[in-house]
Amino acid sequence: MAKVTHERWKCISCGACANVCPEFWEMADDGKAKLKGAEYKKTDEGELGELTIDDAKCNKEAEAGCPVNCIHVKEEAGEEKKEEKAAEEKKE
Ligand code: SF4
Repeated sequence: MAKVTHERWKCISCGACANVCPEFWEMADDGKAKLKGAEYKKTDEGELGELTIDDAKCNKEAEAGCPVNCIHVKEEAGEEKKEEKAAEEKKE
């Protein structure tokens, strides 16, 4: 699993994410990028988008290419792996 977050208020509308990862990123009418299918919520700083997907795919490139570092990809272990880990910890 991978969790992609977008700190939209930091976006400078460069378009790099939509170029390298059009499957997930598009430029919205207000000129800023938008993570397709993400839920955007209002925070004190601005809009924060969150999307959980099975595979990070090109979001990794989008993260690496964003000049203001407002895209973050966090890969998470699946439920099975977590359970395995918990079982191992119990043994120790
Ligand atoms: S790469 Fe970053 S700054 Fe550029 S459009 Fe995408 S989110 Fe905005």
